[in-house]
Amino acid sequence: MIERKAADPVKEEGEKKKENLNLLTSTQIIIREALEKLGYPEQVYELLKEPMRMLTVRIPVRMDDGNVKIFTGYRAQHNDAVGPTKGGVRFHPDVTEDEVKALSIWMSLKSGIVDLPYGGGKGGIVCNPSELSFRELERLSRGYVRAISQIVGPTKDIPAPDVATNSQIMAWMMDEYSHIREFDSPGFITGKPLVLGGSHGRETATAKGVTIVIREAAKLKGIPLEGARVVIQGFGNAGSYLAKFMYDAGAKVIGISDAYGALYDEEGLDIDYLLERRDSFGTVTRLFKDTITNKELLELDCDILVPAAIENQITAENAPNIKAKIIVEAANGPTTLEATKILTKRGILIVPDVLASSGGVTVSYFEWVQNNQGYYWSEEEVEEKLEKVMVRSFHNVYNTAQQRGVDMRLAAYMVGVRKMAEAARFRGWV
Ligand code: NAD
Repeated sequence: MIERKAADPVKEEGEKKKENLNLLTSTQIIIREALEKLGYPEQVYELLKEPMRMLTVRIPVRMDDGNVKIFTGYRAQHNDAVGPTKGGVRFHPDVTEDEVKALSIWMSLKSGIVDLPYGGGKGGIVCNPSELSFRELERLSRGYVRAISQIVGPTKDIPAPDVATNSQIMAWMMDEYSHIREFDSPGFITGKPLVLGGSHGRETATAKGVTIVIREAAKLKGIPLEGARVVIQGFGNAGSYLAKFMYDAGAKVIGISDAYGALYDEEGLDIDYLLERRDSFGTVTRLFKDTITNKELLELDCDILVPAAIENQITAENAPNIKAKIIVEAANGPTTLEATKILTKRGILIVPDVLASSGGVTVSYFEWVQNNQGYYWSEEEVEEKLEKVMVRSFHNVYNTAQQRGVDMRLAAYMVGVRKMAEAARFRGWV
């Protein structure tokens, strides 16, 4: 075992971001390629390359010490040709306008891939939630909803949780919106607690979806899940549930990590033990002395590698050293365009983020449907519906890749933009 090096993950993450290609630019490059392959004219690209609406807000919040602090927030609505826009709100110090724009486009693509009646939206507030008290967090969440209330709503734009936001924050936001509109509005937001109209299976939806696409991808590659060696970067909402599902399916989870380092055991880690010990930020490795680095984790010899932490983790620098046979992107944007080319050339199957992590928005859609109809489904019903959506979507993208001779990422973008482009054409926009 290699001794863990002392590191400041927040600082490292910031420096990494600066070096890497802007997420918006790389998304636009693939959207253009996808539209060209599908034969759409230039004006369709001009329409889809940026969100149709981007709101920047300044949110005054009374802090516990009596002072007022002003926070900046964003809400991007990519395209509503198909239906209302939908997507999460993240609370993070590094939130930027371009990041929110790119994330809103990815939400459009995900909705297109899993065939939901939505366009993409995304929101963010520049803040460090770990420095805010519970009540400051509540005032900030309510202030954000007041600031964006004119452009959101159950049939306009439906927010949801994302990085560092949770069901409690969704509850405050829904309550604030209901006060403004003067009627109960559960369909305004998804990811709510069960008692406020949340859906069974929402919390584990992303990891369930990733598990289903791993199973399908492994079948295609002739890798039995039983005994497969799996490495997962990130032990938060997506990564930790995924580790549990893989472990329960008989796979050997040989590596996991968090922002502070990684754990590795060739014989397979005891996931139940680690789950009991992780904190609510997805941190567990600090409890152990024998750790390896995240860099070493990504290059471990394994069958399936799942980045489930942050962006730009697999780059041109480490792509030649990756030993996995399949990479399934649970995180948004973990692999750069350059790395995708290198890995595809090496015959490694990459299941892209816009497909692999679409289980979350799918169950968010189920939650919205249940809110609209006022009739709620059991956990089994939700799981059965999610299974059908993910299997159908995986094979649709895989078959497109095979038929058009392109990689899975480009195929996913082609499937993802097609419905939007068609809807915009029928509406007479382009
Ligand atoms: P989370 O905040 O719950 O967990 C993040 C995990 O990544 C933690 O274990 C954290 O320690 C680790 N991490 C943070 N910085 C790191 C670094 N520099 N190196 C290695 N590990 C680091 O977040 P989450 O909800 O699990 O989301 C993870 C990824 O999955 C994000 O890219 C997110 O956008 C994507 N995603 C999540 C959902 C969902 O429903 N949770 C849905 C779609 C996509």
